[in-house]
Amino acid sequence: MTSWAAAPTPAQTSKPPKPLLCTYCGTDDDNNFAVISRHRTSNGTTVWLRCSCGALQARAISRAGSQIVASGHR
Ligand SMILES: [Zn+2]
Repeated sequence: MTSWAAAPTPAQTSKPPKPLLCTYCGTDDDNNFAVISRHRTSNGTTVWLRCSCGALQARAISRAGSQIVASGHR
C-alpha cells in the first residue's frame, strides 16, 4: 500500500479535441441535432439528423460507435 497510488488521476491533457459535429455552424453539441429518421442496416443503425442551423447529417451507429457518413446543407 503506497500513498501515491491512491492519488487522484491527473487530468488527461493528451485528449484529442472534440470533433465538430456540424461543419457548417461548427457545433460540437449533440443537443443541437434533431433526429429525422432512423434506419436499421446490417451494420447497425443509420440515423438522419438535422442541425439547428439546417444542415442535414447521416450517422452510422454500430457497436464501435457512431460515425458521420454524410452531411449537407439545403
Ligand atoms: Zn449546424
